[in-house]
Amino acid sequence: MAAIPQCSLCGSDQVEVIDRIVTAGIAGGYDAAVTSVVAENLSANDELSFCRCRECDLRYFWPMITGSSKYYDALQRFSWYYIEDKPEYQIAKQWVSPGDRVLEIGCGRGAFATHIHTPHYTGLEFSAEAVQSAVNRGLDVTAEPIEQHARKHPQSYDVVCAFQVLEHVAPVEPFIDASVGAMKPGGLLLYCVPSEDSYISLLRNAVLNMPPHHVTRWTDQALRSVARVFGLEVVAIDHEILAPMHVTTYSALIAERMLRRVLHLEAQKGLLDTSLRQRMLDKAAYRLGRLIEKGLDEEKLYPRGHSVLAVYRKAA
Ligand SMILES: [Zn+2]
Repeated sequence: MAAIPQCSLCGSDQVEVIDRIVTAGIAGGYDAAVTSVVAENLSANDELSFCRCRECDLRYFWPMITGSSKYYDALQRFSWYYIEDKPEYQIAKQWVSPGDRVLEIGCGRGAFATHIHTPHYTGLEFSAEAVQSAVNRGLDVTAEPIEQHARKHPQSYDVVCAFQVLEHVAPVEPFIDASVGAMKPGGLLLYCVPSEDSYISLLRNAVLNMPPHHVTRWTDQALRSVARVFGLEVVAIDHEILAPMHVTTYSALIAERMLRRVLHLEAQKGLLDTSLRQRMLDKAAYRLGRLIEKGLDEEKLYPRGHSVLAVYRKAA
């Protein structure tokens, strides 16, 4: 196992290894149609380290293996991959004023553009299929890396935003640096990421929250560290509440923890557990979870949800 390098966000060498995960276990956790391309992406390593930076609290996998275009092409065939109305859009759109010049990094098919009111929207996206869908919608979307776009359009945007993108990116620092470079003085930066301070950090075998899909995980502290490292002001850290589409997963998690208590099993350890016992526990937890779900019948009962939106302001 190669030595753990400096933190990809803040450059600190104060990094600890929290967990080690077997890459074959990640590939095996996918739908059969995707397993082979995941295995191909991870083939250079039998094991990955899950690390935490003691300085900025960024959690990341090492090596930081990001997905190939073949991997993303495979995922896009699933209907859940591009969702037109993510709950985070409702929170984020409040930060966009009519007429703002908006840059969205990793814009997919341009769904966020339909939630805001500005003729000055530019999107960046690598998937050719998604770019075509966005262009068909009449949007200005190109397959350009943010680093290149920011060099050509420095200090140009009132709002730079990225939804469910930052956690896919390695290395982290140049991506954020380019995002900030494209902002006008006084402009806003919006990053929405899965929250490592929510229930999702407790899920076992959540392979989509691991490489080659996600290479970093973000706590509120890590999101605040972004402001410190890049000289920005934190304007808001907004957690969404549990979305209807995540209620089943959340309920099964509660059921699994309850079963562990009742059956006197040890507390869950590690991000991956592919044992037969875990699979049996998951099955029982899923069934019990459907009962718990019936009790989660009011939004007031809902906990913090999957994602968090961090809003930063660049000095005027
Ligand atoms: Zn760090």
